[in-house]
Amino acid sequence: MPHLSLPELADIVRNEIKQGQITEAYIHDPAFFVAGMTEGQRVTINPVPDTADVCIHEMLHRHFPHWSESYVRLRTRALLRYLGDDGIRRLCRLYDKVKKPGRAKSMEDAG
Ligand SMILES: [Zn+2]
Repeated sequence: MPHLSLPELADIVRNEIKQGQITEAYIHDPAFFVAGMTEGQRVTINPVPDTADVCIHEMLHRHFPHWSESYVRLRTRALLRYLGDDGIRRLCRLYDKVKKPGRAKSMEDAG
């Protein structure tokens, strides 16, 4: 297998996405947080683990503004393990209820 450049890899990924056969669905696993799986040509994407990670992280920043970035990451990881598969799914359902669509933001606009 020759070494592929990043532009070549990006083209391959875009072409794979264009082929479709991609489903967004929750993937249950009692032991692991599964973000995606490939079965032959069929791909399932589960956005829940990454959404939960970001959501918990930002909620901890909001509630504990004095916590350092590394401590927020540490506590987020621990809380994800504590909540487990079912707890994370419930947390994401709660998030889905309150979230609002917004415009793209730039970090340069942040205070
Ligand atoms: Zn952070």
